[in-house]
Amino acid sequence: MANRINDIKKEVVYYAKLMDEKGMVNTLEGNLSILDRETGELYITPSGTRKRFLDEDMIAVVKDGEQIAGSVKRSSEYLLHEAALNARPDCNAVAHIHAPYLTAYAYCGKDISMKCSTTFALVFGEKIPCLPYGEAGTVHIADGIEEAIKNHDLVLLGNHGVVAVGKTMEDAVKIIEAAEEVLRIYHITQGIGEVKNIPEDKWLSLIENHPGSRKNRYK
Ligand SMILES: [Zn+2]
Repeated sequence: MANRINDIKKEVVYYAKLMDEKGMVNTLEGNLSILDRETGELYITPSGTRKRFLDEDMIAVVKDGEQIAGSVKRSSEYLLHEAALNARPDCNAVAHIHAPYLTAYAYCGKDISMKCSTTFALVFGEKIPCLPYGEAGTVHIADGIEEAIKNHDLVLLGNHGVVAVGKTMEDAVKIIEAAEEVLRIYHITQGIGEVKNIPEDKWLSLIENHPGSRKNRYK
């Protein structure tokens, strides 16, 4: 038991530091969590702490809405994590990130939809949806998340950031990295020329028939 808890905390710390290194979180923005479904305990990065300086003792443990362990106060955004995990019993990890390209779309309140990238088609299908604005630090931050995250592993929070879920933290983080990279490259294309979309029938076939598509992964 103690070993398992320590492993969960280590995993949260490892990925929080990785996201910090990649400029996807900072002291004030972004938090990561893993839910231990056996005990109902949520292990989440604390608020107002530079992720680079995190250690296992600082990870906040939240159960039934109360913090029961951890040397630093939990992030107020734990509500968002709980809502996402409630909606996705197949997932145990949540990464709430402020990756720049993805967050730029959230600032514009725009869904992301593109047909020029095989990665996008396979990982996300038709779109990454953007939820309307919900006030940070209140229950409204989680408004709409349960419905949206049921059908999308990655969701934009209007005027705020990004939430991804995964069976493991690696699963949640890898789709954020993939989306961010696709958008970075998409941005580069703007100075080169007109983006060519995958022909409609081939794009549909990728989504419907490819064994690695989201639709087929969740069969
Ligand atoms: Zn946030």
